[in-house]
Amino acid sequence: MPELSNEALQELGASGLTAEEWSSFNWMRFSLTAPDHSWAGSSCGCPDVACAGKHHASGTTCSCLARGIANYKSVLRGLQALRS
Ligand SMILES: [Zn+2]
Ligand SMILES: [Zn+2]
Repeated sequence: MPELSNEALQELGASGLTAEEWSSFNWMRFSLTAPDHSWAGSSCGCPDVACAGKHHASGTTCSCLARGIANYKSVLRGLQALRS
């Protein structure tokens, strides 16, 4: 089971998100196989385990988490709009 890196956790925290919220959100979207909603993606925070080397070169900064958080927030706004 990969763990989220400290950088990823800090980035989530700065956006007001916990690792559990992030994990559950991606679990719902991508049907990851961790039944307890624990993190099943890359340590950088990308839900794709093969992120480093596929989405960006290994050792370089990953922008998937920032994009994912922006997406999460727009999904949340959409849900709130539906409820109101
Ligand atoms: Zn990625
Ligand atoms: Zn990455």
